[in-house]
Amino acid sequence: MDRRDFLKKAGAAAAVAGTGVTASGLARAGSPIKWKMVTTWPKNFPGLGTGANNLAKLITEMSGGRLKVKVYGAKELVPAFEVFDAVSRSTAEMGHASAYYWKGKVPEAQFFSTMPFGMTANEMNGWIYYGGGQKLWDETYKPFGVIGRPAGNTGVQMGGWFNREINSLADMKGLKMRIPGLGGEVLKRLGGTPVNLPGGELFTALTSGTIDATEWVGPYNDLAFGLYKAAKYYYYPGFHEPGTILEALINRKAFEALPKDLQSIVENACKIVNQDMLAEYSARNPGALDQLVNKHKVQLRAYPDDVLVQLRKVSAEVAAELAGQNKAAKDIYDSYMQFLNASKKYSAISDLAYLKARDAG
Ligand code: CA
Repeated sequence: MDRRDFLKKAGAAAAVAGTGVTASGLARAGSPIKWKMVTTWPKNFPGLGTGANNLAKLITEMSGGRLKVKVYGAKELVPAFEVFDAVSRSTAEMGHASAYYWKGKVPEAQFFSTMPFGMTANEMNGWIYYGGGQKLWDETYKPFGVIGRPAGNTGVQMGGWFNREINSLADMKGLKMRIPGLGGEVLKRLGGTPVNLPGGELFTALTSGTIDATEWVGPYNDLAFGLYKAAKYYYYPGFHEPGTILEALINRKAFEALPKDLQSIVENACKIVNQDMLAEYSARNPGALDQLVNKHKVQLRAYPDDVLVQLRKVSAEVAAELAGQNKAAKDIYDSYMQFLNASKKYSAISDLAYLKARDAG
């Protein structure tokens, strides 16, 4: 569009809106609104990156091209861990990441990502959509001019990749491991050194010995990074990430400038992608695990029961400490724990009872 064209359309928009050139006015005048979406993932990375692509595509398609979203992989516009800041300062209108990456800036944001021994994907969705979680999330991000929405979930992750067996907690001592969020705090408590690295750097860090061990997501994603070439033992379950939410970050001003129908499209596209990503992981993880074990001869190991018991104890301490950091963290923790405890009671006679019965034979 040349400048004259733009002025004409903007003028029409202003006339319609009566409030100057607003995003809402431009949308009505037929000029597409263009948004950038920065992400923490390598461009087009299976599941996470393609989920971000889906979100952008859905918003663009559902709006009939009135709101066009362009996706940028990690480092294309900003580094992986600057996504939150980029959306906060309006460098990009949207982001796709996970809330535990911002723990240095907003410790309580970790509750909206995942907690060690915390909620599963279904439980997280229940808490966020119907259990008061979203309201707390909105309050948490409000000072930063950002809105967070669930836009993807990995389901239960894997424990990670190790070059030695984990037979007791002592085996975690001295371990330099890439593990984000509160899982990292648990490792620190056990004498290890948690490292936070973007996914794109894991393989090199593990092969070069910069780290001794790493977790990433699950079979589908871990196979894509070739982590089996860098470590021998693959542990489960991912006690530290039982249902990690991938978040869509939206610049609040940009969102509020949209007409109501485009706001609804953005909100609902997030919901679609949130469900779709989980479905994709459910479909692809079993086959990927089969490849890892049978083709690449990965040594699959369960964390010993007594190790899990102790990890659960330390995890509870770490979560309670996070809750003690400030009033907001305490409020979120209370809401989270109340929902989790109610879910536990119900899952004992529903999911847990059913899976035990189904898979026993
Ligand atoms: Ca992970």
